[in-house]
Amino acid sequence: MPDTQKLSKVEAIKEGSRYLRGTIVEDLANESTPFSEADYQVLKFHGTYQQYDRDTATERKQRGLKKEYQCMVRVKIPGGRLSADQYLVVDALAGRYANGSLRITTRQGFQLYGVIKADLKATIADINATLLTTLGSCGDVVRNLTTNPAPIRDAVHTRLEEDARMLARELAPRTRAYHEIWIDGEKVDTGEEDREPLYGSTYLPRKFKIGLSTPDDNAIDVLTHDVGIIALFEGERLTGYNLALGGGFGMTHNKPKTYPRLATPIVFVEPDDLLRAVKAVIELQRDHGDRSDRRHARLKYLVDDKGAAWIKATLEDYFGAPLADPRPMGEFKVVDHMGWHAQGDGLWYLGVPVSSGRIVDRNGSKLRTALREVFESHRTDPILTPNQDIILSDIAPDDRAPIEALLRDHGVPFAEDWSPVKRWALACPALPTCGLALTEAERVKDSLISDIEQALARHGLADELLSVRITGCPNGCARPHNGDIGLVGRMPGYYVLYVGGDFAGTRLNTMLLDKVALKDIVP
Ligand code: SF4
Repeated sequence: MPDTQKLSKVEAIKEGSRYLRGTIVEDLANESTPFSEADYQVLKFHGTYQQYDRDTATERKQRGLKKEYQCMVRVKIPGGRLSADQYLVVDALAGRYANGSLRITTRQGFQLYGVIKADLKATIADINATLLTTLGSCGDVVRNLTTNPAPIRDAVHTRLEEDARMLARELAPRTRAYHEIWIDGEKVDTGEEDREPLYGSTYLPRKFKIGLSTPDDNAIDVLTHDVGIIALFEGERLTGYNLALGGGFGMTHNKPKTYPRLATPIVFVEPDDLLRAVKAVIELQRDHGDRSDRRHARLKYLVDDKGAAWIKATLEDYFGAPLADPRPMGEFKVVDHMGWHAQGDGLWYLGVPVSSGRIVDRNGSKLRTALREVFESHRTDPILTPNQDIILSDIAPDDRAPIEALLRDHGVPFAEDWSPVKRWALACPALPTCGLALTEAERVKDSLISDIEQALARHGLADELLSVRITGCPNGCARPHNGDIGLVGRMPGYYVLYVGGDFAGTRLNTMLLDKVALKDIVP
């Protein structure tokens, strides 16, 4: 990092936080006030965002009342794999401390909403007690590792899953502050002795996303990651990995220096070199990423500003040896994992679509109750998909009919009940919880998709495979920029309409219209 950079405010907060302690303990003790701005920033690393109910904020202000502060808690689940027992714990927390829903994220994690400050410690402690964590699910570190969700029992899928777990374990923050604050309650040390061998005391310049895929099944949209790892196999033999660097969709309206970008394949690494090579990329970004302007801090800007040749040469310095050029990859495809599929070991998996990833009981569909009963009675392990759906894995042939009947009895729709455009649509949460939302996303998605379905039917295109992705702001959480249709919140009630991405996730879409009113989107 050049010495001349004037550091952003968040850099000073990180530096002064003593490895992510801040004054969270003191702040937690005062339940009647919101977290301070500095602790708000540090809390992200611990996996929680302080939010407020934006639906009630204006009216409450007029009445002289404070905003209704609450926290979103994000659970980090590498590859979206968790056990039935772990699921049931998170489900119980959703009822006890949150708003009665679990939300599957586009990065295979869970989010709980509406947790009040007084319940935050118990929520995070219970998540940890079930051997899940929230540490590093947000903040300027490596976020949740994504990978192919299919529980197919062959060498390819087994390797992807093992790599994702290994990377998640090796790249997790080492600070003891997390256990000190949320679990032990005792000071492990003063902070002086803590070390972050990979990250250092100021962590990374910005969030850092890693995903692991094969060209044959790009369910995770691998090129949207800071490091997109594309595993290359000959049959079931791993030959190595292409690392594509500099993906990311966040941008700011009217700031042309910010933009969505797909990752560029830069190097090929041997099977045994994956961790070392990924650490080298992280170190490169740690030392050279822009710490003065958070809007210019992602790896994608470094890749564009310095160029691929500089990135490769510098990466070789960190890696300590020459690195090969990326190898040819097959055509990228996205496989549909909804419905019933054989795992290859005599067992089955069932992909259940979840609108906007929201597991909740409503509108005649008791999805949350149904899933709870499936996990309680059949102990099948769930997998969260990057398309915000859920897979029920390891189902014995004799259990297929009873599980299907249980879900049907609770009014849970199956993949075949939904049109392709409905099945593949994504929406971020936006209002009323996200503080950055400029307009609605999840809450308008179902009616918008219904209108699009009707329009497609009128033109004889009801079975068209079409991805529609809606976000409430240009931060890009629902990957709007490589969908066939991307809708990005512009201002209340209005969107930017992008078109022309491809279904396999290899092409950015382009802006067709700016400031389109919600009612005009379908026409
Ligand atoms: Fe919030 Fe914007 Fe992300 Fe949607 S895309 S969840 S509005 S930050």
